[in-house]
Amino acid sequence: LKIRKYDYLVTGGAGFIGSHYCESLLRDGKIVLALDDLSTGSLANLEKCVENDNFSYVIGSVLDDSLVNETIDISEIVIHLAAAVGVENIIKQPVDTIEINVRGTENILKAASKKNCKVLIASTSEVYGKSPDIPFRENGDIVLGPTVRSRWSYACSKAIDEFLSLAYHKERNLKVTIARLFNTVGPRQTGRYGMVLPRFINQALSGNPITVYGDGRQTRCFSLVGEVIKCMQILLENPDSTGLVVNIGSTQEVTILELAKKVKEITESSSEIIIVPYEQAYPKDFEDMRRRKPDISRLRNLTGFVPEADIDRIIQEVVEYRINPR
Ligand code: UDP
Repeated sequence: LKIRKYDYLVTGGAGFIGSHYCESLLRDGKIVLALDDLSTGSLANLEKCVENDNFSYVIGSVLDDSLVNETIDISEIVIHLAAAVGVENIIKQPVDTIEINVRGTENILKAASKKNCKVLIASTSEVYGKSPDIPFRENGDIVLGPTVRSRWSYACSKAIDEFLSLAYHKERNLKVTIARLFNTVGPRQTGRYGMVLPRFINQALSGNPITVYGDGRQTRCFSLVGEVIKCMQILLENPDSTGLVVNIGSTQEVTILELAKKVKEITESSSEIIIVPYEQAYPKDFEDMRRRKPDISRLRNLTGFVPEADIDRIIQEVVEYRINPR
């Protein structure tokens, strides 16, 4: 390690969101340490960061108790982004998913609490499950499927992370904020783990069929990673957000079929859009979310800022990056 004291520890720092977060903190002049086991992140994501003298990284896992303690010991604030990524991985590797999400976060909270560090925990809109109460409010009920469907292990493990974070806050005064991220997209996100937008863009640019799963009428709200990070950072800096769960996302709802059409149009692709039944796209017993849309009044009240980029601009930015990576 180049430096002995860090302003920020970013777990999952070599991942898609993590690497953008590290860059943003470095731009603000902060001293940043990234911790990542490179299971789904990559050093290529850190190309810009490593040019900065205020940046160091450690390759290792949040499951490694002593490493977590050592890295938190030399940091002031923890941004905890390390987690299992992508529905495909989660279904294929449910043991790793549950372990990394539950034990990883437990290690972080325990170490941060010992040192009295401020923590931002990244959670997910997945925790709302199939709740019919659209738009999703932070205090609304969560509705998960049965344990035989392993997709729900992700939502459930992140919900445990939230319970544990709030418990540390109540019982041990840990300064923690929980950000429930909705679908976040942008440069560097890979389609390797199933994420729909990078997949559609790859398919469109390579002339392969654009694969819309199910009937294509399921909806999501997409926001750009830069705006999501800005929200997270303002939340972290606002003491009023301590001990709270806060949705971060866009409220512009698009169906997946609309998304496919827009990607095709914006890339001027000749790819055909095909409907792939869930049974062919995912293993048996898969269950998709029909609608996912946040209520972001809490975010707006706490930060005065919400993700604004509309879906056309978002697609354009990601396409430009794919054609011309910076
Ligand atoms: N999806 C799709 N085609 C793909 C990949 C995903 O139609 O090639 C669908 C997926 O079934 C879901 C939506 O796109 O309804 C968003 O999927 P993603 O895995 O990006 O994120 P999720 O919101 O499900 O976590």
